[in-house]
Amino acid sequence: MEERSQNRISEIKLFNTLTHKKENFTPINKNEIKMYSCGPTVYSYAHIGNFRTYIFMDCLRRMFKYNGFKMNHVMNITDVGHLTSDADSGEDKMEKAARKEGKNPYEIAKFYTDAFLKDMKLLNIDTPEVITKATDNIPQMLSMVEEIVSNGYGYETSKGIYFDVSKLDKYPVLSNNDLSGQEAGARIDIDEEKRNPYDFALWIKAPENHLMKWDSPWGKSYPGWHIECSAMSRRFLGENFDIHTGGVDHIPIHHENEIAQCKGAFGHNPANFWMHCEFLLVDGGKMSKSLGNIYTIEQLQEKGIEPLAYKLFCFSSHYRNKLNFTFEGAKSSQVALNRLRKGFLLHKNSNEDIDETIINSLEIRFNDAINDDLNMTEAMSILWEAIKLKAKSKKIANLIMKFDEVLGLDIKNSEKYIKKIEDNIPDEIMQLAELRKIAKANKEWTKADEYRDKINEMGYTIKDMPNGEATIEKIM
Ligand code: AMP
Ligand code: ZN
Repeated sequence: MEERSQNRISEIKLFNTLTHKKENFTPINKNEIKMYSCGPTVYSYAHIGNFRTYIFMDCLRRMFKYNGFKMNHVMNITDVGHLTSDADSGEDKMEKAARKEGKNPYEIAKFYTDAFLKDMKLLNIDTPEVITKATDNIPQMLSMVEEIVSNGYGYETSKGIYFDVSKLDKYPVLSNNDLSGQEAGARIDIDEEKRNPYDFALWIKAPENHLMKWDSPWGKSYPGWHIECSAMSRRFLGENFDIHTGGVDHIPIHHENEIAQCKGAFGHNPANFWMHCEFLLVDGGKMSKSLGNIYTIEQLQEKGIEPLAYKLFCFSSHYRNKLNFTFEGAKSSQVALNRLRKGFLLHKNSNEDIDETIINSLEIRFNDAINDDLNMTEAMSILWEAIKLKAKSKKIANLIMKFDEVLGLDIKNSEKYIKKIEDNIPDEIMQLAELRKIAKANKEWTKADEYRDKINEMGYTIKDMPNGEATIEKIM
């Protein structure tokens, strides 16, 4: 095992939702990790809760790369089939958004996919090797549904094709045999044609006015939400891969049903490890439209919180614990991030003597922490120990840059960020300038002007330079 990497010091242990315990991780292939992550449903902006789950996904893939593995990581973009309730009722989220915004669902999908990818970049989240849209995988989904039906696990009703969960040896397998937490179709929308309350839609017959529909043996129709992930993981990773990730809300419905579909099509659960990120709460409660507390990355920036400070904020709790978002908490993370950058620069610009054993011990402990089911709080405390060492040395700066391969906080560019602080430009103004730059790059001129006006209102001017950068000055 050791020849694979110099970095890999300790065994990798990961919590597997399937077995409800931490297990030693052994990959299927020696050098490569095959991983699938449920991606966004692109009917609106992704919120900071969603991004907690993608930051977790990013740490996981970065941890593997740090340990010397190659990644073969697939993430889907859901642009069809996710109904307003996860349990197969209501309208398709894409179609609903399209009607509301007066666009077609493909335009909606493109707009929000671009917005999602832009935020991923701002958060310095590594791009998975494959990002694939559900609508680009319709033939694979359809043929999987046909296999499921011909294997005796699916049946037709007037609404569509349903999976018969009673045909399985066991259902559910992830959620501790407890069906009480699951929104069964039977309880919210009694469907007399379903054989069992927990049977779910594989393929849905499209009403006349439905916009996204395809030819199938059952007429014009469209996929159920769960089939896309089963078909896409199979297409890009095969019938057995290492890890499947998502948020905890996916455990009782979406992931349970993915496993069921794979058993129905080819006889077994596809992923060795199922890993789930706990929810981000806001002010101690759920995020909801009615409470007006669903924040986007852009809204944090408008309040002077950098996307990377939000990432640092996420490291303040283990991914399996709930994390409570408050603006005070996020602002403290912004202060901590700036402190971290300054501490890093002190090391980078010094050459004091430092005992090699100190460096080795920090490195071993950091590796142990990340390999122990991504213990990021411990990893961060080791990073701070390194930063705070009395002796300042380039060697420590190099170690911190190495740690940052897992953290993804762009520490190597600390100078650039600190320069802006030293120019005494407040965080809010810096972030508004950043948003204006993005709006200009996207040719969203009205939006760019709005940010300029906000900057002016706050007492600063912003001038564009010929090199594309902008200078900010206080209005005297
Ligand atoms: P969706 O776009 O609704 O399919 O969600 C995208 C991802 O975000 C999924 O993996 C969800 O499980 C996850 N997610 C949704 N809400 C939260 C939250 N409040 N905290 C953490 N993850 C979330
Ligand atoms: Zn999925």
